[in-house]
Amino acid sequence: IAAHNHQLFTGNHHTVINLVSSPGAGKTTLLVSTLKQLKHQFSVGVIEGDQQTRLDAEQIEQTGVPVIQINTGKGCHLEADRVQQAYQQLALSSPGLIFIENVGNLVCPAHFDLGEHFRVVILSVTEGDNKPLKYPDIFHQADLLIINKTDLLPYVDFDVAQCIDHARRIQPDIAALALSCRSGENMFTWLQWIATQFNTVTADRSSAAANR
Ligand code: MG
Ligand code: ZN
Repeated sequence: IAAHNHQLFTGNHHTVINLVSSPGAGKTTLLVSTLKQLKHQFSVGVIEGDQQTRLDAEQIEQTGVPVIQINTGKGCHLEADRVQQAYQQLALSSPGLIFIENVGNLVCPAHFDLGEHFRVVILSVTEGDNKPLKYPDIFHQADLLIINKTDLLPYVDFDVAQCIDHARRIQPDIAALALSCRSGENMFTWLQWIATQFNTVTADRSSAAANR
């Protein structure tokens, strides 16, 4: 199903980014700040995953970006079939960007391919900088590590460089970015990263079509 999703997304000119983190790392806040900027540039949609409630979907709706909430009940991660249903419901015009906010969980979302193009792991500086070593699976297939809430660095013992080093012991090619939605630090670099990935997927698709 994930492979089918991937074809569907690519065929429809949709670049899909899966955001994973433990609960409270700031996925929704990062998304809201991101959407406020991106919506002027791209057609954007969001698929929200939580065990219960539409609370995060309601925050996304405030930005005017279309969102579908998936409630997993006892489930602790999103799976490709529910994502496909939500994707169909979203019915986003193309080309565009779709963000999937996974259920807050640093363990099993690692093992469930949703068909996304890119996986972004978010850690916040209130967590341990050794998390990549303790929860390596989620980093194995990740494209970008975001270290969030850098505005809190003066108050916590979190070593950004060491955290990135730990992540690269697991996944040597992982890109890394330390940012803060609150202060705005490096938010522009994050937006640039998204635009670059969007262009990469679009270019890959065009060259695949040319080779047909
Ligand atoms: Mg959330
Ligand atoms: Zn799970």
